[in-house]
Amino acid sequence: MDILFASNNPHKLEEAQAILGPSFRVFSPASFGYPGDLPETCDTLRGNSIQKACAVWNLFQADCFADDTGLEIDALGGAPGVHTARYAGEDKDPAANRRRVLQELEGLPFEQRTARFRCIVALIENGELTVFEGTCEGHIALQESEGVQGFGYDSIFVPIGLDVTLAEISIEEKNALSHRGKAMRLLQCHLLQNRG
Ligand code: IMP
Repeated sequence: MDILFASNNPHKLEEAQAILGPSFRVFSPASFGYPGDLPETCDTLRGNSIQKACAVWNLFQADCFADDTGLEIDALGGAPGVHTARYAGEDKDPAANRRRVLQELEGLPFEQRTARFRCIVALIENGELTVFEGTCEGHIALQESEGVQGFGYDSIFVPIGLDVTLAEISIEEKNALSHRGKAMRLLQCHLLQNRG
């Protein structure tokens, strides 16, 4: 089954393909000649996810899904939340984002660095919207790990049940426990039920 993912982030595309499995072929807007960024100007993850899916639906009139992910840190009152991508500035620099988080939590013991990734997936199918959600609980590490897997904040996020960051485990291990893995398995069930 072919499905268009409203994202041009190669890491997200790789994870989505691995989660949905070989019975799906995941395409990006870039493969339709649209390599640019999609709009995400809403003040909620849900709003941004729907906004990206709608933008791609309006461009191609093709069934598609989008995801929007936020990192919620309890000691920062839930920040960066919807501002996760641009936490350290408009250029969306992942290394600067991680540095800002570590600076803001400096001195705080590990047990008090509780956080979660929240992923909202919006599917538009025949013009109809369905939304799925997945979360991954964990802690912000005391320092950045040297792991090179994953992307974004993975090298400073230690999921519950592990003592290493998401950047130190394989894509399969990450997908089994991650926010995106959980949300996209719900999407997978929905698509398989609806389309057989
Ligand atoms: P967006 O969902 O593309 O808007 O991503 C929001 C921010 O979260 C960006 O800075 C991403 O790099 C980061 N992000 C999204 N998903 C993940 C993930 O699975 N692990 C780590 N960082 C992520």
